[in-house]
Amino acid sequence: MTPQEQVLDWLRDAHAMEEQAEQMLTAQASRLERYGPLKARIEQHISETRRQADQVKACIERLGGSTSTMKDLSAKTMAFFQGMSGAFVSDEVVKGVLASYTFEHMEIASYRTLVAAADALGDHETKRVCEGICKEEEAMAGWLHDHMGGITTQFLQCTEAPDATAKR
Ligand code: MG
Ligand code: FE
Repeated sequence: MTPQEQVLDWLRDAHAMEEQAEQMLTAQASRLERYGPLKARIEQHISETRRQADQVKACIERLGGSTSTMKDLSAKTMAFFQGMSGAFVSDEVVKGVLASYTFEHMEIASYRTLVAAADALGDHETKRVCEGICKEEEAMAGWLHDHMGGITTQFLQCTEAPDATAKR
């Protein structure tokens, strides 16, 4: 593999990751009933995630790669996040925050490595795009970091509610 082929491969991984992120976040947001600020922040990040997928796709095409061979995240990774995102478990709000916080850090790591790789390749546009995306992932991770305590407290206050929707 040439360095450019390697970068293309990592960009395809990133694109698959964003598609998975969109699915996960959309499922999460649609089930939230009582956590308005969390729902709003997730919806903001869904828009960012869609734009990120387009930006990554543009980098792939600019490097001469095809988007018809988009990869899927490994079945193992998907199963992990689907389990963690926790729809239909009673503590799905907290499990969802856990999964999202973890997922954002996987994204941050992916874009940090892509920034270094694009820099080594002399691909300034890919580097610029990945730096920008990385900032959005860090902002989402930071929001979750700042709010997960409050969300957990709010959840615990309604754990005894008989109605399942009261918990989400
Ligand atoms: Mg993303
Ligand atoms: Fe993200």
